[in-house]
Formats: sequence, structure tokens, C-alpha cells
Amino acid sequence: MADMSQGRSNVPHGGSQAAANRTISGSKGLELAEPLIFEMGEAGRCGVDFADAKVSNDRLNGMRRKAAVGLPGLSEPQVVRHYTRLSQKNFGIDSGFYPLGSCTMKHNPRINERVARMKGLGDLHPLQPTSTAQGALELIDTLATWIKTLCNMPAVAMSPAAGAHGELCGIMSIKAALEARGEAATRTRFLVPESAHGTNPATAAACGFTVDSIPATERGRVDIAAFKAKLGPDVAGIMLTNPNTCGLFENDIIDIAAAIHEAGGYFYCDGANFNAIVGRVRPGDLGVDCMHLNLHKTFSTPHGGGGPGAGPVVLSAALAPFAPVPYVIHDADGFEMVEHKADSDAQPFGRLKGFHGQMGVFIRALAFMLSHGAEGLLQASTDAVLNANYLRAKLQDVMSVSFDGMCMHEVLFDDRFLKDTGVTTLDFAKAMIDEGFHPMTMYFPLVVHGALLMEPTESESKDTLDLFIKTLRGLTARAKAGEAQSFKDAPVLTPRRRLDETAAARKPVLRWTPEA
Ligand SMILES: *Cc1c(COP(=O)(O)O)cnc(C)c1O
Repeated sequence: MADMSQGRSNVPHGGSQAAANRTISGSKGLELAEPLIFEMGEAGRCGVDFADAKVSNDRLNGMRRKAAVGLPGLSEPQVVRHYTRLSQKNFGIDSGFYPLGSCTMKHNPRINERVARMKGLGDLHPLQPTSTAQGALELIDTLATWIKTLCNMPAVAMSPAAGAHGELCGIMSIKAALEARGEAATRTRFLVPESAHGTNPATAAACGFTVDSIPATERGRVDIAAFKAKLGPDVAGIMLTNPNTCGLFENDIIDIAAAIHEAGGYFYCDGANFNAIVGRVRPGDLGVDCMHLNLHKTFSTPHGGGGPGAGPVVLSAALAPFAPVPYVIHDADGFEMVEHKADSDAQPFGRLKGFHGQMGVFIRALAFMLSHGAEGLLQASTDAVLNANYLRAKLQDVMSVSFDGMCMHEVLFDDRFLKDTGVTTLDFAKAMIDEGFHPMTMYFPLVVHGALLMEPTESESKDTLDLFIKTLRGLTARAKAGEAQSFKDAPVLTPRRRLDETAAARKPVLRWTPEA
């Protein structure tokens, strides 16, 4: 295995500072170097004393393994330390500030976790008879009511498992509606602003539509004239994010909704940024036909690293009949699930997901809503916007804000402030890691050069934001003072330096093979 203290070999070390950071053991302070569990293991070592097994040779009909399985042999303290150290290498919202724009990495209140672990909820099984899970169905129904109320929309499909899955649900609902109108063959074009999250064009394309990109204005909003010029009888709809990925409210949204409807298309709103407006703006009032919510963003359930999320989709009256099964219904006898198309009195387009949605996320999201109440949710979105504007106000004289005026819950900078310094957005982000901050989102959205998109969320204190501001101002001053090399070397304090991220993604090595 490579020397733990070395960075990637083609990255120069930063002279004496890097030398000082090189240790004999490979550990740094009390952050210990950690080999793979297979490298530590030793054949024959074991954490438990097993009695000799009585092996019956014919039980497996000659299929018994001939060689050792190759499990690593470790003692109990070795195992405990290994996994504890691994857990400490992870950076999460519980470790520090995580201003990853477009991701809403807010605090996950512990009351949500308590509720999710309550016996009656934690021990539920999706295949148990609905008569024994009435409380769970009521919980889904209550959450659906909150979502419909916050959005002022008549229906919601609860089963999508993430934002992108919600987009799929929404676009499939639109496709089903177009089929019912007999226009699926002619309405084949989806309009998507160029600032959109990559999942938007990907979803439209996956559903068989051609994607037609709408340019942005210098104000960071949809170019409404360009949008209107693209309308025609072949347009199925628009996918618009509001607040958009530049962290700005699309002021022309009501006009856009009216124009797309007049042209016979549907309005898909990407509601991943609902965190900025929940309790203040109701998408139904803006003319939206369908919109996914990322419960794991707006309503604080843990996410990241591909973990579970939930992307319920609110639907207008025009699209509600096409919502997928299963869904909860409610009559005098209690709650039931409609599981099959044949049992539905509507026209569901089918089923998107096994079982009923992400129950663990539903529980946490409803706990968040109920513990905040309507006023608390409004306070949260207000504070999210306040925090982002605080960053903007305190950094705009030294860093380049991409668009003038107030932002919503995230603030977008570009790399003009780094011009002629030799420092790139990537270098700047790497230097932030040495300072103990998770970098912001970089190089997204694509509408500005070298984007730095920061989303503090409402759950950060002024103290945290002030330290972050002081750090970024300091780094900016260093970059402008000609200290480019210190950025090129960064990070110097991490267990690994600059990794070849492209190779890691393209050619992942997921399997350990013993050295010959
Ligand atoms: C996060 C996000 C998505 C995708 O949501 P996932 O839950 O990650 O699939 C889509 N659009 C926007 C604007 C987002 O921020």
C-alpha cells in the first residue's frame, strides 16, 4: 500500500510545511493512518473462541468449500478501532459546516430520529396486512395533507424515492396525460433552462422527449422572450426550477405558467429548492402542474452518499388522475392502499417503486413538520434566505457575486475574483478543506464560469458563518497576494492530498486483491 503521508505523486509538496506534515507512522496527530481490514488481518487470529464444530461431511453433499474463505483474522479491539477510525474519516453535517449548494445539508433534528425508532414505526414491515398498519397509513396520509397544504395542490404521489425519481414520476404523469389527450405522438419537446440541475434534461430525455435548452438572461433568470419564441404545438412542457439553481426566484413564473398552458403544455416545477420558500409561497398559486419535493432537503431527513431520500410529487387536477399506484385511500372503515391499476377509479400510469415509498423518511419529515408547526417552517425558510444573504453581503466586496440583488437560500459566486491569481475554483475549494470547511458546490450551475455555490441553510449559527466568512476573506486575500502555490498544494492537512477524481470515478477499484 502507498505511503500514507504522500499525496498524488505529480502534485508537488509545499516545501517545508509539507515536510513538517510528514510523519514516520503515516498518522497525523491523533488522526491515524488506517490500512484496509484485509491488510491488517492475519490468518488464524480471531476475536472469539469457538468450540470445535462437529462437521458432518455428507451434509453438503460434497459441496463443502475446499479452501479458506479468506476472511481477515482480527481481534475484537482491532475491529472496534478499525471501524471507529473509518467513521471518523467521514465528514457529515454532524461534524461541521457543509455549505454544499443545491443540496440543503441542514441539521437533522434528533427528535426525528427518536420518532423513527419508536417500536410501532421501526418494526413495521411493508408486507404486513394493512389492518395491522393503520397508524402507518394514517402517517402517510397526514404527511400528504401537510404537503398538499404547503403547496396548495390537490394531489400528491408519495412513492418516488428521491428528487430525480420524483421528476420521473412527474414527467411520466405528463406523458400519460398527453396520451389520454391523444397528443403524445406530437408533443415531443421539453423546454429546460440551461441553469437546470442535470437530472431535469436527463429525465425528459429518459422519457423519450427531446430537450430544448432555454438561455438565461444576465439577471440569472429564464429569458422569457426566448422561452416564448420556442413555444409551439410540439411542446409537451417546461421543467423549471424555482428558486432556480442560481439561488434566484424566477420572477416571471406566473407569466411562464400562463404561456405554457396557453401553448397546451404542462408546467413541471423542480421543487428541490422549496427550502427557500416553504410557508411563504405555494406552488399551486403559481400555476404549477407538478413539482417534486425533496423531503431529505427541505424537511431535514439525513441524506448524502446515495442514502435514502423521498421525492413526493404534488399534482394539479389535470395530472392527478395519472398518479402512480400505490396510494392511500381513506373511508369510514379506515385506511387502505390502492395497489393495482385495476382497483383504481383513476388512470394511474403504473407503479414506480416496490412498496409504498420511503417510510423512514416520511416519519422524519412529518416529525420535522409537526415539531416546527406552520410558523416554524416559515421561520426556517426565512432564516435560510437570511443566512445566504448574510454570506453574500459579507463576501461580495472581495469575491465576485454572479448576480445582483437579494438571493434566496443559496448564493452564487463565480471565479472572476480569482482572475490573474493562478488559483482556480478547484484550488480554492481544496484550500477550504485545510481550514476545516466542506467546500461549497463547484462548477455548477454551468451558466457562470467557475461557479462557487454556497448554501448555508437555516441551521447554522452566526458564529459559524462569521468564521466561514473570515476564512474565505483570508483565503481570497492570500490568492490575490500571489500565494497561488499554497492553493496548488492544498489540501496538505488531510490523510490524502489531491486524488485523481476522474480515474476514481471512471476506473473504480472496488476489490482488494492480495499482493502476489
Ligand atoms: C437535489 C436536486 C435534484 C435531485 O434530487 P435527488 O434527491 O438528489 O435525486 C434535482 N433538482 C435540484 C434543483 C436539486 O437540487
